[in-house]
Order: sequence, then structure tokens, then C-alpha cells
Amino acid sequence: MYKAYIISTGTELMLGSTIDSNSVFIAEQLGVAGIKVVGKSTVGDSVEYIRTAFEMGLNMANIVISSGGLGPTSDDLTKEVACEVLGCEMITVDEEVKRLEDFFRRRERQMPGCNLKQAMFPRQAKILKNSRGTAPGMYLKKDNKVIVLLPGPPREMQNMFLNEVEPLLKNDFPAIDIIARKTIKVLGPGESQVEDLLGDLMHGSKEYSLALLAKDGEVHIKITAEGKNLEHSKKILEKIANQIAEKMGRNIFGLDEDRLEAIAGSLILSQEKTLALAESCTGGLLAKMITDIPGSSKYFWGSVTAYSNEAKMIFLGVSDITLKQYGAVSSETADEMARGILGKSGANIGMAVTGIAGPEGVSDEKPVGLVYIALADAHSCSVKEMRFVGERDAVRILAAKSALDLLRRYLIYGGL
Ligand code: ATP
Repeated sequence: MYKAYIISTGTELMLGSTIDSNSVFIAEQLGVAGIKVVGKSTVGDSVEYIRTAFEMGLNMANIVISSGGLGPTSDDLTKEVACEVLGCEMITVDEEVKRLEDFFRRRERQMPGCNLKQAMFPRQAKILKNSRGTAPGMYLKKDNKVIVLLPGPPREMQNMFLNEVEPLLKNDFPAIDIIARKTIKVLGPGESQVEDLLGDLMHGSKEYSLALLAKDGEVHIKITAEGKNLEHSKKILEKIANQIAEKMGRNIFGLDEDRLEAIAGSLILSQEKTLALAESCTGGLLAKMITDIPGSSKYFWGSVTAYSNEAKMIFLGVSDITLKQYGAVSSETADEMARGILGKSGANIGMAVTGIAGPEGVSDEKPVGLVYIALADAHSCSVKEMRFVGERDAVRILAAKSALDLLRRYLIYGGL
């Protein structure tokens, strides 16, 4: 597999005032092109650090791509340093001088002398057009390596990558279509628990590798398999996916592009059921997630956001005694909320969420992250106590996601 190394230059990236979004974009694009990113460096505008980054990149990878430092000022050093590391002499390219002169003439401005350095390139370099700025990029092949220099501003960099660089990379590094990929998505165990459950599988082999990505309570297990040919890679992938499925069991909610809210929605639809919600700490977030899915009106009755005790009593029929005796965040209140919305709506399933998103309303027995999720149907009501870690937003998202997952488990396995 081809290997790439990404370098982001700019002192502002060191200060934390600018987030290095360029390397994220480049890494994503390279992944799609089947090129593996083996390392990244983010360095300030210093000759020494830029040089070290290029040396490291050339040592580790076939392709080194940098962004930033192509401007005309004295702190724009990338091209000079990259050429020095490669041992390439730069010459003034007349066509580029003319282009710059035209650029300034059109704006009725005098071209500062320092801009001339933007017209200097190694003889063998392919100059990359910048249709959104003055700094051209560069694509240079030398000694079986490719060096790509891109400007820093994200709009300019992205446009140049997609229009100029991608076709060149495709030609020089044609995608070897023998890699098979799959993502298995789980909800329930956290990232480290998933890692433990996977055990030795996590270490991978010559033929496959696993990577974990945790997001909003979900853990995505990314499998990449590389065999002798695509058929062989797919076989390896299936074998590993089956082993993962055995270890993860009911925690698996989907594959690849699957979304939990869509999975839960299609299950309700296929069972010809309807759902009504009573939300407290999630404040309507669960209803939002469900209605994000087109066609949800076929199975979603609606939601009551009953935030105050009064609303819980008036709209859901939660009893005053329950609220006084056990509190709004309790298994008993969740139970009455779910039964209440089930009765009022006439839906087949009633779900309720009540919890402490924080930072206020906390006590020793009831810490931030304590959430009760209840699910009622015509026969019974089950309540699950959850303890999430995180700030207000995180707790609310985790509570809504877990409710969707409990709904999925109920619809497939008949229980929470
Ligand atoms: P220009 O001459 O147009 O400034 P340049 O190649 O010299 O181009 P820089 O001066 O390094 O680019 O960066 C210009 C701006 O681009 C920075 O102020 C910053 O806002 C943004 N930028 C640079 N690098 C990155 C990066 N890695 N991720 C996100 N933004 C970046």
C-alpha cells in the first residue's frame, strides 16, 4: 500500500489560534484514494522544524504533502526548505512572473518585490494553479518520491487538492483494488471495554488491521483487510467480521453507513408499531433524532417534553406522591412517564427519559449523568438505570442514543 506523510506549517497552528483542519481534509482524501497516512507533523514557521518534518516524511513515506508557508513573506519558508531537503535548485519561471504581474495589474496595484519568490520553482516541478489565491502549489517527483506543496488557506488548499493534486496522484499511485473495508458499529460497551472484548483480535496481522473510533457513545470498529487479491481480502474481512460479531453480540447495531435512529425506525416500521415519547432531561433531542429520518411520521406519534414536575403531572399523569417520594429523577417517575405517554397517545410503545444532565440539581445519591430510561408496552414497563460520564451536552446525547438503542434491543430481542 502507498504511504503518505502530511505536514502542516504555520506558527498560528502552534499557538492554538487556528485548528489544523487541512491535515484532516488531506487524510480523508488520501484514505478514499487508498493511500495510507503513516504520520503527520505540525510545525511552526521555522527552517529547522520544517526541514526535520520533511526529512521524517521522506524517510517514512512515498508521498509527502504539506500545507501552508507558500506566501510571499519572510516567514513563508516551505518551498525553499522542501527544495533544499530534496537537493533541487529553484529557477524563476517566466510564465509565473507574468501571471503575478497580471494579477497585480488587474487590481491596479504595484507588485511588491517579495512576491517574485512565488514564481520560483525547481525545473522539474509541476506548478499547481491556485484559482482562489496568489500562491501556486507544487507537485514534484524525485527518486521515487512525490512531494506536494499546498497553500495554507483551507479554501485554496482544498480546491487545489481536488482539482490539481488528486488527478496526479491517481495517475502516479493507481488505487490497488485489493483492499476490503468494513465498519462494525456498537453501542453499550465503551471504547476500552470494546478493546478488552476484542482481545488479541485488536493486534491485527499481516492480513488485517482494526481501528476503534468512539463518538457520542457509539464505538466503530474499522476493519481493513489486504490479501492476495480482492476476493481473498473479502474472505479475510468476513472471517474477522464474524469473530467480532461473536464477541460483540447484541451490542452491534449496524454496519458502515448505518445510523442508529434509522435502524430503530426501520424496525418499528417493519413491525407495524408506533412510538410516543416523554422526555425530560433530553429536552426533545430524542424526538429530533427520530424525526431526522425521512418517513418517521409513519411510526412516530410525537413527544411530550415534560421538563417540570408540573408538566409531568399534567401531560403524563405522573403522581404527586411519586414525585415527592422518589424525585423527578427516579425509576418510579420514569415508569409513570412511560406508562403515561403510552396511555395518552394510544401508541404501541411509550418511552421516557429522565435524568440529571448537570451541572445543577446534583446530590450525593443522584450525580450528574444519572439517567433512567423506561419503555412501556401494553403488557409491561421496564426501566433501565444508566450512569453517563461527561458534561451537560454529552449526557443528553448519550441518554438519547441509549434510549434509541434500548428501543432497538426491545424490538429485536423483546427486552431491554
Ligand atoms: P497565503 O500567502 O495565502 O497566506 P500560505 O500558503 O502562505 O498562503 P499560510 O500563511 O501558511 O498560507 O496560512 C494562511 C492562513 O491559512 C492561516 O492564517 C490560517 O488561517 C490558514 N491555515 C494555514 N494552515 C492551516 C491548517 N493546517 N489548517 C487550517 N487552516 C490553516
